[in-house]
Amino acid sequence: MKIPNSRSIDKESICILGIPFDANSSFRRGPSLAPSRIRESYFSDSSNLWTEQGIDLGTLKGLYDMGDIDCSDTSTVFEAITRQVTTVLEKDARLICMGGDHSITFPIIKAFTKKYKNLNILHLDAHPDLYDQLDNNPFSHACPFARIMEKKLAGRLVQAGIRTINGHQREQADRLGVEVMEMREGNGWLSELKFDGPVYLSIDMDCLDPAFAPGVSHHEPGGFTTRQVLDIIHQVKGNLVGGDIVEYNPDRDFNGVTAMVAAKLLKELIARIFADRKP
Ligand code: MN
Ligand code: MN
Repeated sequence: MKIPNSRSIDKESICILGIPFDANSSFRRGPSLAPSRIRESYFSDSSNLWTEQGIDLGTLKGLYDMGDIDCSDTSTVFEAITRQVTTVLEKDARLICMGGDHSITFPIIKAFTKKYKNLNILHLDAHPDLYDQLDNNPFSHACPFARIMEKKLAGRLVQAGIRTINGHQREQADRLGVEVMEMREGNGWLSELKFDGPVYLSIDMDCLDPAFAPGVSHHEPGGFTTRQVLDIIHQVKGNLVGGDIVEYNPDRDFNGVTAMVAAKLLKELIARIFADRKP
């Protein structure tokens, strides 16, 4: 992937942006190390840069790595994220962010919703992330979708992979109009679900079963296989305009196996977003 100068980004571009920020994690830190590890796996000689459906990302025109946002000042990092994402979207480019903990999705969506009317969000996660606050932090990684829905930043929020919902978050989901596809209900929702208008796909790596992706802070058994998440990326009906891959925690990984899963999801998500661009 090439690092562009800002003039070279245009409506043909798909940009990748690292957000190495994990100060809003509730249980343990680590996802700030993720972007560089995912890049390493993306380019690993153990695989190649072709996607499953036949796109060679190694020669794909318009694919840009924007590097990482400077997250050293935690008091201004959300504003910096919204500003940087806005800069990319104003050029009509597509954008995928690599976290970072899940709190970054709120400032990302603030920018997306300015660009796209009636933005839909598909959110894959073990957790609904709908807490009003956690540990007195309303911007915790356990809260971003409560903030997004309170501010009416999304037309529809559909969650899948969910297997930790408690009483408070069930009330929040009802109050905020969230469509929750619980893991125990199976995967029939994928063929039923259809989005009208733009879709943002937010992938928390703990949507996967820890057997497939052990490198996450919160091990929650009973999750998706890697194949199921790939099927979602390939098959969900709607126009994908952006997304994020968050909560990969290298400190918890074994032999980089989860980094490889994150890199694979990134490759397939790039290809899907590329395919969905309007001509
Ligand atoms: Mn999450
Ligand atoms: Mn989660």
